Amino acid sequence: MSTVTRFAPSPTGLLHLGNIRTALINWLYAKNSGGKFILRIDDTDQERSKEEYISKIKYDLEWLGIDFDETFNQSSRFERYREEFEKLKSAGRIYACYETPDELERKRKLQMAAGGKQVYDRSALELSDQQKKDYELEGRKPHWRFLLQTERMQWNDLLKGEIDIDLTSLSDPVLFREDGVPLYTFCSAVDDIDFNITNVIRGDDHTSNTAVQIEIINALDKNKISFAHHALLKASSGDKLSKRDNVISIDSFREENIEPISILSLLSTIGTSKSIELKDSIQQIIDEFRLDTISTSPGRIETDVLKALNKKQVQKFEYDEVKTRLDKIDTNIDQKFWNTIKGNLDTVEDVAAWTDVVFKNNSFETEDKDYINLALELMPDEPWDDQTWTVWTNDIKERTGRKGRELFLPLRLAFTGLTHGPEMKLLIQLIGRSKILERTKN
Ligand code: GLU
Repeated sequence: MSTVTRFAPSPTGLLHLGNIRTALINWLYAKNSGGKFILRIDDTDQERSKEEYISKIKYDLEWLGIDFDETFNQSSRFERYREEFEKLKSAGRIYACYETPDELERKRKLQMAAGGKQVYDRSALELSDQQKKDYELEGRKPHWRFLLQTERMQWNDLLKGEIDIDLTSLSDPVLFREDGVPLYTFCSAVDDIDFNITNVIRGDDHTSNTAVQIEIINALDKNKISFAHHALLKASSGDKLSKRDNVISIDSFREENIEPISILSLLSTIGTSKSIELKDSIQQIIDEFRLDTISTSPGRIETDVLKALNKKQVQKFEYDEVKTRLDKIDTNIDQKFWNTIKGNLDTVEDVAAWTDVVFKNNSFETEDKDYINLALELMPDEPWDDQTWTVWTNDIKERTGRKGRELFLPLRLAFTGLTHGPEMKLLIQLIGRSKILERTKN
């Protein structure tokens, strides 16, 4: 049986690095074994789900190069969930409950005060037909719970090893709400069976869901699914990531012109036993992927690390790979320009900041007028090459006795207006003699 994995986001916000890491792990696991990867949209909660987020999720995945073989929305399968629900009902595994949220909350508080487990007490199982009828006459509609029967659920988690969960410490899950909407725990189990999912890999916040879902799956079919739970990434502060953390959304990194390969490189190594490094290609990431290198303790997202990886990637780009992007900024950016400037960039688009430095007829204040005038007198004729700057500044050095910072900094300031930047021997070739004269005219 070939591997089938899935990524199942709820479209209630933008994807952040933590969500995408789960997607990536599932995708890599499938790719690495020639299997299939499915995108499932968990949109049963129609009030919170937004079409806009569905499109964004698909766009983010596509932009990163995480392609899916199939996609579907849970909202299109309500009939199917109803069918499977009826099966469980006939098998005596479902019971109707009439408590209002307030009543449930009161029970929970009492249990808390008494220091016991906060678990649904199954009092609905005791209701007589007459009591149920009375509730319905009162206008109450039932919600439906699944009767858990296993005391301890055990499985061999591909990441966490042997797991043993006390199911008596969990409430019987509600499968359908009183308004007829099926809930995630159930839908996910039905989908994982119907779509022949072989491996569910998700965050360890789902570990107890898994215990419940295995029991539901067993009641419907026979569990053939392997489960794996990875530690969730944390923010650099150590806090949990949230969908409201827009600063780490894929969308915001795209806007900041971070390269997909930088994000993928980070996410394929963060929270693993491997060192964080820039990868050459998605193929390399696929080839190197091993599930068992993923650590069970949480990795922390350092956006500075992502930025450093990106800076490295920018320096790796050959002119031809980015030419179309550079043309959008300024068609005068040629190969020599790119090669000179790229070492000073955090993102490709940052190159825009250097077009003025190279092309514009600026003039800059200088306090060292005599020194600059002398330098201009000594300025060699064109054509200029990689030796020109050395020859020129050696002359200036001989005539003035200056050296180091005193020799170089006033020149850089007068010619570029900046105290730092690419090597002057390269930069002056881009600026050229006439612009240097123009800039220092006054
Ligand atoms: N929609 C669920 C979530 O985003 C999916 C969990 C799962 O993978 O089953 O947490």
